[in-house]
Amino acid sequence: MGSGCIVKADLMLKTVFAAKYVLVEPGILLEDSEVHVSDSGRILSVQRRTASTQPGVEMVDWGSAVIIPGLVNAHTHFELSSLRGRTSRSGSFTGWLAQVVAQNRARPDELSLEAARTGIRLALASGTTLAGDVTASGMAWNAAAERGGLRCIVFQEAIALASSAAGNAIAQLERSLDSSGNALLAHGISPHAPYTASAQLYLDAAALARRKGLLLSTHVAETKAELEFLQTGTGEFREFLSSLSALPEDWTPPGVSPIAYLDALGVMRQPCLLVHCNYLDEDAIAAIAARGSSVVYCPRSHAFFGHEDHPVRQLLDSGVNVALGTDSLASNDSLSILDEMRYLYKARRDITADEIFRAATVNGARALGFAELCALRPGRPADLTVLGLPQGIASNHLQEEILQGAGECTGTIVQGEVAWRKVQ
Ligand SMILES: [Zn+2]
Repeated sequence: MGSGCIVKADLMLKTVFAAKYVLVEPGILLEDSEVHVSDSGRILSVQRRTASTQPGVEMVDWGSAVIIPGLVNAHTHFELSSLRGRTSRSGSFTGWLAQVVAQNRARPDELSLEAARTGIRLALASGTTLAGDVTASGMAWNAAAERGGLRCIVFQEAIALASSAAGNAIAQLERSLDSSGNALLAHGISPHAPYTASAQLYLDAAALARRKGLLLSTHVAETKAELEFLQTGTGEFREFLSSLSALPEDWTPPGVSPIAYLDALGVMRQPCLLVHCNYLDEDAIAAIAARGSSVVYCPRSHAFFGHEDHPVRQLLDSGVNVALGTDSLASNDSLSILDEMRYLYKARRDITADEIFRAATVNGARALGFAELCALRPGRPADLTVLGLPQGIASNHLQEEILQGAGECTGTIVQGEVAWRKVQ
């Protein structure tokens, strides 16, 4: 087939998705409109609803609903979905982490696979079209590949605090990148956190990411204890790692903040997702802004651990790309980004509805390397979330109404295909 045929095929109208409202991008709402999608899953146009239908074109009318750019969960762990309600916050972060580590050790791959399948199903059923998922077992990749439907960057996790173990960890990581999935899947790499990954592992992982053109994601600046451990090598992380015999004798604290540490290692000189960032000083925020790194804020996981106020306002004011994540069901009640948005709207009145919708759509897509998913414009992949709305709901302050609880996910569309639909 010549390239001319491909271009022509791309222009063929396949499906029309109609609804009472279409949110082209946060802040831009159209009434009684349709999204026209090509047979290659791209948006051809967004226009006022027309009465006529064309032969061979599928018409999907969502009725009293709003079609919005697909919701993005920029940080989760699908394979931990079996841990819902099976961990408690027993006083400290490391107490919680010890419970997760113990349950992970006892879990065979089949259970991780089953949990990942559950996580993906829950994500699609709550409107997620794109996810940044972290997997230690590798089973999330298998689950996403067999299920299809969800656009996903699967970050393979690496843990090794001994410098001498970095080589093995990287070799293992490289092997995991060989697995092939479907057109919606891409690999990423994730050194776990500064208290479980050595400087050498970060250096090698960042080099690998650059060589392969992959995104890098890492948990960072999540707790005060992490700051103390990096600054002085003391505190609950020393006790926790020692209890697991995981603290190498030659490990020395870098004596700086977690962000200064990653920046000095060159991790932030490439596209990366800095997950949590609950504790940042002004220098750290300035460094993140200067490097153009994305921050993934997980509001309900943040609340689960009872952290101090998140510096999300300062990050946004500094021009940082802030995305939202649910983290896993080991520290959250659901994998719904809509739930995350609603929680954030209630908890932080200094963050506007527009900013919350942006964080959950535009910013998440940009963080995961899909800047073209930012708005419903011609030529862009048709990743859409449909929120069913109460009959007669007015367009005034629709975003605010949704954040206050109006509506629920009724459809999830990825690359023009309905990946999930609520059974009426
Ligand atoms: Zn996480």
